[in-house]
Amino acid sequence: MIKSINPYNQQVVFETKELTKKETEEAIDEAHKRFLSWRKTSYSERSKLMHAAAAELKKNKQEYAETMTLEMGKPIAQSIAEIEKCAWVCEYYAAHAESHLADKTIKTDAAASYVSYEPLGVVLAVMPWNYPFWQVFRFAAPALMAGNIGILKHASNVMQSAINIQKVFERAGFPKACFTNLPLSSSKIEAIIKNPKVKAVTLTGSKPAGSAVASTAGNEIKKSVLELGGSNALVVFEDCNLEETLKTAVQARFQNTGQSCIAGKRLILHKNIAEAFTENYVKAVRELKSGDPMDENTYIGVMARPDLAEELEAQLKDSVNAGAEVLIGGKRNNAYFEPTVVTGVTPEMSLFKEETFGPVIGITTFETEEEAVDLVNQSEFGLGVSIFTEDMERAKKLVPLFDDGAVFVNELVKSDPRLPFGGTKISGYGRELSADGIQEFVNRKTVYFN
Ligand code: NAP
Repeated sequence: MIKSINPYNQQVVFETKELTKKETEEAIDEAHKRFLSWRKTSYSERSKLMHAAAAELKKNKQEYAETMTLEMGKPIAQSIAEIEKCAWVCEYYAAHAESHLADKTIKTDAAASYVSYEPLGVVLAVMPWNYPFWQVFRFAAPALMAGNIGILKHASNVMQSAINIQKVFERAGFPKACFTNLPLSSSKIEAIIKNPKVKAVTLTGSKPAGSAVASTAGNEIKKSVLELGGSNALVVFEDCNLEETLKTAVQARFQNTGQSCIAGKRLILHKNIAEAFTENYVKAVRELKSGDPMDENTYIGVMARPDLAEELEAQLKDSVNAGAEVLIGGKRNNAYFEPTVVTGVTPEMSLFKEETFGPVIGITTFETEEEAVDLVNQSEFGLGVSIFTEDMERAKKLVPLFDDGAVFVNELVKSDPRLPFGGTKISGYGRELSADGIQEFVNRKTVYFN
């Protein structure tokens, strides 16, 4: 049995049996059969259904949000915002898929020559629990609009949300098997990727999971997209708007109880403002309201599982033993972890080197721009970086020096359906969202008329 256990009170919220091998194969056969008709549907037909999915999300957002909160401890107000964002990505692709995938004429010696963008078939999505709806919708909306079929292996602790996602597409009127949830443990993924009817795979999750999935896909010569971990830096220059930067830097680290791949995990402060900024940062963190995730006023819920909180505690202890100092927080109670600020963090410490997936931020200082860039790029991860400065010439000069997949100036790194999203280094490869995202799982077919 696969179980969802509410991390706030340890009660079992949901349990489900795994599919058998035969049931899994049958579901993939159905998905493939559906592809043969779905690929022939027009963009306007798909668009109508995708708008209906957006409407369904808005209509029943409370129901979907509550399940997420019960399964993984996300504060309810943030769960509702997540469902609304899913409606946005559905509407975005309903409106733009056709133009993103329009034929591209290329003049040659031919009477006509062009590139057409055609669906691949059944695409497997392996997804994490931290944004149980958003991670799936940012894959599913473009995939279905492109004419592909989605099958989902969701994280084991959010299987009821996974069922709900399938329900959204069913309630919107999508034909059966356009999108199918497969309740399975991760040991069954290899066989799915090897199934000849599955054409590609996308995974959002950790490096070990990404590495396992990409190796199998590579052996099978199948396309993969990986959205893995991050250890984004928030670089604060002395000329920034201090008040705005402070607010943004708190939100960047602590929203979703710190469990976000693009969270600002390393706070890198110019030495001239470090002391005052740190003092105000600690004050702001003291005011974050922890509590019952189902309470609308809660900002910090619990982490998704007690073992994840234990891992974070070990990373913190390790850094403290190496000389870092806790300014606020630091204690854990089961899956609850106090919002924590740590100073004196150096590049050799766990809080700097590793991804910290919870409400803990480490502070490091710098003196020169070169030093700041070097600290940012020392990370093995390359998802994104935020820099805070009022000097746009400086910002423009620095942008090309960062190795990351995104640079945000005076803003936290965030995903937006209109912009490509993805990383470099061990944060993965490929892009989601925008035109780049929908073009990942298509056959760029060269067409030549003589
Ligand atoms: P995870 O343990 O890697 O799990 C992600 C998904 O992969 C789950 O469905 C999991 O299934 C499955 N999985 C785990 N091991 C696997 C294997 N060996 N083969 C095939 N599938 C496997 O990650 P998580 O703890 O759920 O999520 C946190 C991680 O995701 C963090 O590193 C975070 O930064 C990253 N993340 C990245 C992004 C991004 O966009 N770049 C966004 C969100 C999260 P089970 O649950 O059954 O193990």
